[in-house]
Amino acid sequence: MELSITNKDEILKKLENIVGQDYVSNEPEDLFIYSQDSGASLPRPVDYVVMPKTVEEVQKVVLLANEDKIPIVPMGAGMTLSGLTIPIKGGIVVDMKRMDQILEINEMSRYALIEAGVTTGSLTAYLEKHHPDLQVSIPDAPPSATITGNALIHGSGFLSQKFGNHGDMINGLEVVLPNGEICKLGSCCVSDYWFTRGPIPDLIGLFISSFGTMGIATKLAFKLYPKDNLREVVVGLFNDPKMIPDVISKITYTDIAEDIIFAVSEGLMKGYIFLGTFITGNSEEDIGFKIKLLKRIYRKAKGTYMKIPDELRDYFLEKPIFISNEADTRKGGGFEYVGSFMPLEKIPEAIEKAIEISRKYGISPVQMSRVIGRGHNVMFATSFSFNRADLSDMENARNALHETDKMILDLGGIIWKSELAGQKLMIEKMDPNYKRLLKTIRNLLDPNGIMNPGNWDV
Ligand SMILES: Cc1cc2nc3c(=O)[nH]c(=O)nc-3n(C[C@H](O)[C@H](O)[C@H](O)COP(=O)(O)OP(=O)(O)OC[C@H]3O[C@@H](n4cnc5c(N)ncnc54)[C@H](O)[C@@H]3O)c2cc1C
Repeated sequence: MELSITNKDEILKKLENIVGQDYVSNEPEDLFIYSQDSGASLPRPVDYVVMPKTVEEVQKVVLLANEDKIPIVPMGAGMTLSGLTIPIKGGIVVDMKRMDQILEINEMSRYALIEAGVTTGSLTAYLEKHHPDLQVSIPDAPPSATITGNALIHGSGFLSQKFGNHGDMINGLEVVLPNGEICKLGSCCVSDYWFTRGPIPDLIGLFISSFGTMGIATKLAFKLYPKDNLREVVVGLFNDPKMIPDVISKITYTDIAEDIIFAVSEGLMKGYIFLGTFITGNSEEDIGFKIKLLKRIYRKAKGTYMKIPDELRDYFLEKPIFISNEADTRKGGGFEYVGSFMPLEKIPEAIEKAIEISRKYGISPVQMSRVIGRGHNVMFATSFSFNRADLSDMENARNALHETDKMILDLGGIIWKSELAGQKLMIEKMDPNYKRLLKTIRNLLDPNGIMNPGNWDV
């Protein structure tokens, strides 16, 4: 909807009344930041940004948006790279950063109850200081990424091999629905404990991977896990992608890995596939045993165990691993990756086809993938760097990303946290009855179509 200037001033006043003057803006210099992200998407206009502090403020913003039929886009840190927080139809970006309270750590039932703006960095630091025996799975994204934004896109991190995607680690949610109602989901809708999703009809899934189209999450309960004292990475090099499913299957069979990643980078690894298995333990003896076992598995799978230099070891043991280093392989600072959920058996083809696509677009191949849930799924990612100052170079990266989207779908994978063009490809392939169901739910929840419109446009 095109808003007139008077209308715009009125809406600004109403937003100021809700969140206070300091926490709303429609100044071009503020909106500029929200009109783009660090990926390859083109900027799109934003009308307002608001930074609420309480669930009641979020509720009032949603009610106002309904009155005036203004689109709303919830935003954590805006770090997905795939343009998910850049409004497709303008409107209000609701930046959740001020809702940054860690409300409860339940040591016994092992969960953290947090507000939606709590970042991966702040929860990790808090646990290290106050609950050093507990840990939270975080992505390799910069620490400003929010736990909620990441969990709601079904992200993954260093505990995902053992415990699944981050969406699976959600115990409960408080959300502001598109009609402004505040609703609790999970055990917290019946109990004071946010310790489980069931056993009641599980509607939390509606809010995962729906990119803010179903409502705004304001609180989240997220699983925590016990933490061992020691952590080590054991590296193998493989020269044929066909070896990868077998070696991963063997490692996951032993149940000793905390995390398994594999990577392709022509610059860094000279054409080899790098496989890192992360193990943990509470004694040197335990770690030594696991290293021995992994060396044997690598050897049997015709790979080579590699003793890595301390510097590289430290780099891989960092949480998050600083993979944005790969962005600057061609200088200019930009990169975006297609992430996907891929069946393990399709990985060899995916690796080869992604390398072909990188070469076709003149971009050095960089892939970084993570095994999820003991091999039930692989988060396969292939990244394209570009020079942000060169628009045609950005377009080249966008074309490479789009071709990769198609390749992923052809192989039977699903594009993860997909940008608009990838969402369209998935919608084309989608079962028509699923599309109808999705549409029915969306229309019921959001009759005015205000919640991040344009996304999942069935
Ligand atoms: C260098 C780098 C490395 C990365 N590595 C990983 C990785 O290892 N694993 C991984 O999973 N991701 C990774 N990512 C991707 C991304 O950064 C993360 O998934 C990030 O955590 C997303 O969180 P965010 O706060 O930035 O979410 P945002 O980008 O702000 O939001 C993501 C989506 O959720 C919606 N949303 C956000 N908050 C709410 C809310 N409160 N209510 C409703 N909807 C909401 C938004 O509308 C959007 O659709 C990486 C990114 C970078 C730049």
